[in-house]
Amino acid sequence: MTTNAIKNINTQVLPQPIRYLPDQNGFFGNYGGQFIPPELKPKFDQLTEQFYSILDDEDFLRELTDLLVNYVGRPSPLYLARRLSEHLKSLIYLKREDLNHTGAHKINNTIGQILMARRMGYREIIAETGAGQHGVATATAAALMGMECKIFMGRKDYQRQFLNVKRMEMLGAEVIAVEQGNGSLKDAVDAALGYFIENPKAYYLIGSVVGPHPYPTIVRFFQSVIGSEARQQILIHENSLPDYVFAAIGGGSNAIGIFSAFIDDQQVSLIAGEGAGLGIDNEKNAATLNLGEEMIFQGMRTLTLTDTQGNPRPSYSIAAGLDYPGIGPEHAHLRDTGRVKYLPITDDQATQAFKILARLEGIIPAMESAHGVAAAIQTLKGNPGKLAIINISGRGDKDVERIK
Ligand SMILES: *Cc1c(COP(=O)(O)O)cnc(C)c1O
Repeated sequence: MTTNAIKNINTQVLPQPIRYLPDQNGFFGNYGGQFIPPELKPKFDQLTEQFYSILDDEDFLRELTDLLVNYVGRPSPLYLARRLSEHLKSLIYLKREDLNHTGAHKINNTIGQILMARRMGYREIIAETGAGQHGVATATAAALMGMECKIFMGRKDYQRQFLNVKRMEMLGAEVIAVEQGNGSLKDAVDAALGYFIENPKAYYLIGSVVGPHPYPTIVRFFQSVIGSEARQQILIHENSLPDYVFAAIGGGSNAIGIFSAFIDDQQVSLIAGEGAGLGIDNEKNAATLNLGEEMIFQGMRTLTLTDTQGNPRPSYSIAAGLDYPGIGPEHAHLRDTGRVKYLPITDDQATQAFKILARLEGIIPAMESAHGVAAAIQTLKGNPGKLAIINISGRGDKDVERIK
């Protein structure tokens, strides 16, 4: 055990040097791009330029690393899950993003973007949030930097997620309950975009690898620290690359964060579990990569869940962080190329996996992360002797009330 601890401490904490850039219009194959009102174009051009300039800026990367180590608590351990390994007759490591400050991977991205925003001279941060996880991570980073922060939430989510609303307010953020539309995340996005257009002094901090270029690339970069560490750690622990890497997928940031370090290693199978809710044979799901159709949605060309008329339809998942009818464009591309496999995981399968991890390892995962665990169970059952990493994107305290 001591040697494992020392091995983890020796891991270098830095996002991956950037690879697989989208083309100059922001496309990954058919997907992505930048579908925005013309008045926002200068702001996006400035953001793109700033982002490419920080990639080899030593001062920026030093400050980022310092906060990731001393504030977030990185590197997160790569933990050998002995009892789960026994249960599945494979060797299973867990990448412990649940141990980060604020309890999930989202803080990696909010810290990175807020450092960029500060450099660009912004004093005000805005964001939208559904379950409140991204809102809390944003409010945390804003407090740390002494910036003003406004968080937009659909009215329904505002009522449902009161604990997170309180946390954000305690951190000094103003939480705005959006009344328009049907009070969902989509309405919060519309309200945040409206505010963004009217307030040139606000920086819009997007929480996953979605939205118009360059956001999917920015968020991937800041989350790639997960994969960069995991790759070093598995080589130190096992002197070998894994056979499989598993993750849960909502918008796609924790999945691309860990996958990005292994994409060039063709021998490593990359598998993501998406929210299949009550099943993919009805509309109560969020299985965008299995059921979505190509369209322009929230500033990007991507796969989107649609109704019989071809309009975007609401999604559903037991895991609030997976309850999203779109998907990051790079994932749509990786599905087309076949490099990543996307498994639909139902609420019941995820709940089962949640309980297995709690009982076998004493780790209560976020309901989102349980979808990655379920994908691993499905893949490794009857397929023994493999070396695998599961990304545990967050902790599950927020979910225990809902589990039966
Ligand atoms: C938000 C969230 C997710 C889903 O978002 P991605 O961008 O797909 O990573 C997954 N796990 C946890 C714990 C979350 O909070």
